[in-house]
Amino acid sequence: MRTAETFVEKPRTLAELQAEIASGRTKATDLATGYYDRIAAVNPRLNVYLSLTKERALEQAARVDLAAARGDKLGPLAGIPVGIKDVLVMKGAPATAGSKILEGYRPPYDATAVQKLEAAGAVLLGKLNCDEFAMGSSNENSAYGPVRNPVDTERVPGGSSGGSAAAVAANMAVATLGTDTGGSIRQPASFCGVVGVLPTYGRVSRYGLIAFASSLDRVGPLAANVRDAATILGVIAGHDPRDATSSPAPVPDYASESDKGAERLRIGVPAEYFAEGLDPEVRSAIEQGIAALEAAGCTVKPVSLPHTKYAVPVYYLVATAEASANLARFDGVRYGYRSPDSDTLSAMYSHSRDEGFGAEVKRRILLGTYALSAGYYDAYYLKAQQVRRLLAEEYLRAFAEVDAIVTPTAPTAAFKLGEKTGDPLAMYLADIYTVTASLAGICGVTVPCGKTAAGLPVGMQVLAAHLNESTAFRVARAVEAAKV
Ligand code: GLN
Repeated sequence: MRTAETFVEKPRTLAELQAEIASGRTKATDLATGYYDRIAAVNPRLNVYLSLTKERALEQAARVDLAAARGDKLGPLAGIPVGIKDVLVMKGAPATAGSKILEGYRPPYDATAVQKLEAAGAVLLGKLNCDEFAMGSSNENSAYGPVRNPVDTERVPGGSSGGSAAAVAANMAVATLGTDTGGSIRQPASFCGVVGVLPTYGRVSRYGLIAFASSLDRVGPLAANVRDAATILGVIAGHDPRDATSSPAPVPDYASESDKGAERLRIGVPAEYFAEGLDPEVRSAIEQGIAALEAAGCTVKPVSLPHTKYAVPVYYLVATAEASANLARFDGVRYGYRSPDSDTLSAMYSHSRDEGFGAEVKRRILLGTYALSAGYYDAYYLKAQQVRRLLAEEYLRAFAEVDAIVTPTAPTAAFKLGEKTGDPLAMYLADIYTVTASLAGICGVTVPCGKTAAGLPVGMQVLAAHLNESTAFRVARAVEAAKV
């Protein structure tokens, strides 16, 4: 049997790099150059970066080195190389959202999360591959080719933030930003063996995010360990007057909150997440993780989330309906691609959209337009919103009894490239454990928790109530420390 080709390499931790850069032992410029060398060496195989922002990165690194040499106070991410999912805009850099329809588009401004990272000293390396408009669970819907999983290049990295997860796993960035609408940070993080954070809805500004489904979209970090992810969330979180949905709640120091330990925390385990369809190896890894939490002093008890079974259909109604509205703006006039040969305006619209959008995006626009159309709205969209409320209330009731809920992040480990592309429904079921938290607006963290016999990473999803990221981080740290 052929052994799998692998590119796994752990990045250095933030704490180590911070100390080295502050003392001048490591130059931010050398660190950035080193990362660009690594990217040049492995990107042709993994297809993680769609474009690099080298000039901007090296200017920022030089600023950090100058500040360190002067003994100035450095920002919390000074000199740290970070990658950005290509649905978040950076001024003057290509922003494709993984779609042909945005080919050639260069936005004139920075997303708020991007701006905040840079203000904290981060060095932004480039834009990361993803499923087209963040629609997908395998990164196979990117118009620029799939990302390969660094653990095993025959397998998908998950999606839609596949590039963001693979970049961290293969040490092509110390950390990255992804987005999560129905699982797009958590599922790829779990498939690639890294940490991913779903912040509470509204915790991180979406200004400068190319919208998919606005009542669900969130921006969050991926990193090699929980504390680093917590540090980055602390930098990007907070109110933004440019995003009316952003929360005014103060931002805790997530990194030091995560140091508090998990002792005496009450952990809920929902039976609905351990039912049919769960891979036995994933189940056993998560059960070991739960045992490790008990050993760390948590109390574990069952909780019930009976509406879970409706979550996938509800999600695919709400998300497609909102996508059909958000994607109406791509018309061949305002951004990117325009079909070259059309006689009339309406032919130009329809040819541009037909040639610019991929099959999955078209499928979603059709489904969403149907669900919103007169006569069907009440039966589909409205009904889905009602069930969504029931799901959210169910979580609220559970969080009255427990501090966190743990589940597998995905029902299987990373699957093979091409394995599910012919069957959209099988692909949608990859999101079965992640869409509920998306619909409810609550927060969570996925943390590596064991491996399958073939050496594929398994992720444990730790969910917590709205704005209670600190608790999710504490539990995830305990799982991480147990080295399941
Ligand atoms: N896989 C899910 C979908 O295809 C989730 C995507 C996401 O979170 N952006 O919609």
